[in-house]
Amino acid sequence: MHGSKEQEVTAVLDDAARIASDQQAPMIDPFGRAISYLRVSVTDRCDFRCVYCMSEDMTFLPKKDVLSLEELDRACSAFVRLGVRKLRLTGGEPLVRRNIMWLIERLGRHLDSGALEELTLTTNGSQLARYAEDLYRCGVRRVNVSLDTLDPGKFLEITRWGKYDKVMEGLEAAKRAGLQVKINCVALKGVNDDEIHRIVEWCGEEGFDLTFIEVMPMGDIGNEERLDQYWPLTMVRAELARRWTLTDSDYVTGGPARYVHVAETGRKIGFITPLTHNFCESCNRVRFTCTGMLYMCLGQDDSADLRPALREREDDGALEDSIREAIGRKPKGHDFVIDRRRGAKSVARHMSVTGG
Ligand code: SAM
Ligand code: SF4
Repeated sequence: MHGSKEQEVTAVLDDAARIASDQQAPMIDPFGRAISYLRVSVTDRCDFRCVYCMSEDMTFLPKKDVLSLEELDRACSAFVRLGVRKLRLTGGEPLVRRNIMWLIERLGRHLDSGALEELTLTTNGSQLARYAEDLYRCGVRRVNVSLDTLDPGKFLEITRWGKYDKVMEGLEAAKRAGLQVKINCVALKGVNDDEIHRIVEWCGEEGFDLTFIEVMPMGDIGNEERLDQYWPLTMVRAELARRWTLTDSDYVTGGPARYVHVAETGRKIGFITPLTHNFCESCNRVRFTCTGMLYMCLGQDDSADLRPALREREDDGALEDSIREAIGRKPKGHDFVIDRRRGAKSVARHMSVTGG
């Protein structure tokens, strides 16, 4: 019938216009920042219970609230169509999600097509021995592995449930598979402050880059405890400079890290200082959770729920519209404060929800 034919043609033209405009117009937020980096928390579950991240008796999300791997693929693919060039899977622990390699393999098609520049993940390393080769096969070339200490006893104290030897095996497997490794190390006063030189040296020996992260006020684990652990990275850097020759590097990722080059090891050290340095002006990222929530800023509670668009609609139009609308609300910056006089201001979400 004539009417429906016309509607069909209009729909095809609309789709074509959408695809054309998506390709020409990456998502730009109200402050002119192009959003090209998506971090996806694929699960809130974890096989560790790091003291700064989770309480020991964490309650996890009901399974029905968690997006399926197919839904995660659909959402990630929509972001890629809208201009995301770098995708990082995180969690919780991404590699404990059942069948996670299915998702990673699916997402690898965007690398093959050239739409995506990088597919990577942040992991505690516990499952790397098992998955390193598969990750490489799917197109992953770099992984961030979180490790705060080289002392097995302290490792157990920090992670509560972690197995140090497994992580070491995982790191070996990653190297063998050809993955580049960056170690993420949370700087904790009174915990690993006596180890930082050894960690720099070890990363040099192993061929790993290294990033120190300042402990952040996330979730509802005791504030007092966190104030005690807080160790400003300006002080970490000053301590490192006593032993290593550090030169500021102009290497930038659009992320919160600032880098230095270490002459003696030939490697980079990054410092992620969300509390002492305002990195928001160059922020190119948003975070998507395993329940379908899109957080435009790690330090703000505003979010957009993409689940209805994912679950109630078969076409991706509503999903893309919801994403664009949310990017239009990305705030200028965060308001983390750790201040002894005022107490710690925190965002109520655990890091394992938004994935750090
Ligand atoms: N399970 C994976 C891991 O540990 O790498 C990925 C998720 S974890 C939430 C991501 C990163 O956030 C890790 O490097 C972890 O050390 C860091 N992290 C967790 N809680 C933090 C906090 N309160 N302050 C600073 N970094 C934190
Ligand atoms: Fe798990 Fe990573 Fe949080 Fe540690 S930091 S409890 S490994 S999610």
